Amino acid sequence: MVQMPLIDDRLPVGVDVGINTLATLSDGTKYENRRPLKVYLRKLRRAGRMLSRKTRFSSNWHKARKRLACIHYRISCIREDSHHKASTSIVRKASAIGIETLNVRGMLKNKKLAKHIADAALSRFLTMIKYKAERRGIPVTEATMFFASSKTCSSCGHKKTELDLSERTYHCGECGFTCDRDVNAAINLCPS
Ligand SMILES: [Zn+2]
Repeated sequence: MVQMPLIDDRLPVGVDVGINTLATLSDGTKYENRRPLKVYLRKLRRAGRMLSRKTRFSSNWHKARKRLACIHYRISCIREDSHHKASTSIVRKASAIGIETLNVRGMLKNKKLAKHIADAALSRFLTMIKYKAERRGIPVTEATMFFASSKTCSSCGHKKTELDLSERTYHCGECGFTCDRDVNAAINLCPS
């Protein structure tokens, strides 16, 4: 006999994504970004050095290039795996999901490669949440690009003009609400 759950304990969830912490939910749950192991980074550097020493287009150069590509691939698999685990876990506990819209145009303008790669990864992560939610029939609300989820107080709605990236705690000067910065943003993104 299949037992049906008597109570649906799923709730609307707001999701704030970031580079240090992959996702912060409006209920306070955090999913850390799994960093590629140091071993891989060391291998990556070594393979890069090896490649630079080879004569371009020689057979050893092709071999070295292949080795480097393999390590890049392994690292991207590690990231992909943590994105899959987090998005599945989020979608399982949500009755509705609210996310931010990443500024794609701003992303493409970004010339810093590391930042660009990180933004692209976050955008893929949001896409992952969207299609997994869709598969389960969970509605997804995307905030408009100009919604200041980090600067707005989730308690009274007051909007700060400035919020430094180093301020990890949100403190509202209007109503006194104090909260983890990312949780405050996630609550703002939460569909009501
Ligand atoms: Zn406030």
